[in-house]
Amino acid sequence: MALFPNDGPLVELTGVAKTYGSGDAAVHALKDTDLAVYPGEVVGLLGPSGSGKTTLLNLVGCIVEPTRGRMALDGEAVFEDGRWLRPDLRALRLEKLGFIFQFHNLLPFLTAGENVAVVLDLAGASRTAAQARARELLDYLQVGHRFDAYPAKLSGGEAQRVAIARALANRPRIILADEPTAALDSERAGIVLDLLRTVAVEQRAAILVVSHDEKIFNRFDRMVMLRDGRVVEAEHTIA
Ligand code: ADP
Ligand code: MG
Repeated sequence: MALFPNDGPLVELTGVAKTYGSGDAAVHALKDTDLAVYPGEVVGLLGPSGSGKTTLLNLVGCIVEPTRGRMALDGEAVFEDGRWLRPDLRALRLEKLGFIFQFHNLLPFLTAGENVAVVLDLAGASRTAAQARARELLDYLQVGHRFDAYPAKLSGGEAQRVAIARALANRPRIILADEPTAALDSERAGIVLDLLRTVAVEQRAAILVVSHDEKIFNRFDRMVMLRDGRVVEAEHTIA
């Protein structure tokens, strides 16, 4: 049962495929794939190493160009007939997407607060507004007391929460996370997933999480299973 039954999908892939390279060196990383993710959903993306999980995430994130198919984000067609429909993919990403990576990749020469605020600066917010939003998010994630700390001084869990704050800064409706809990213990992993669920509901966001982490499988509304570049199973795990 969809949480927001009147809303269309935030992510919609139709017949999307990705081949890296060509000729003898061609790697068919993702074969014709259909996928729809709706507001309020937290979807797990599972599958063995090399099955195409990161490729799928990077396609949705407009980081990798599809070889064919159609992609729409938040009701807007973004790739169709072999081309991107937006000239500025960076602006598209800032507007619609938030990324969380396995390792936090915070900028080492900026404090925790600045790492979050910089995203808002890029999106055109005033410095005061950017600082206030960074403060609010870090407080919400219970790392507000680390606002002025540099990444090297943060624990793994703190750094990952700062990275999540950064991903949420622009209130994206689509959040993509590649192994976000791999570096965390099970308690912290649970906190991160609870937080993503709250964001999905409160911001009517769609959240796609690549994970090997069996500890968090019960936190997904649904799991999409990939094997050799194909979706082999998409099942509901939570009633
Ligand atoms: P997963 O995240 O499930 O481990 P990937 O999407 O990273 O899978 O990779 C799927 C397949 O595509 C693998 O065979 C991988 O080697 C290949 N691949 C991924 N990225 C590239 C690339 N940039 N160039 C060539 N091959 C790639
Ligand atoms: Mg991967």
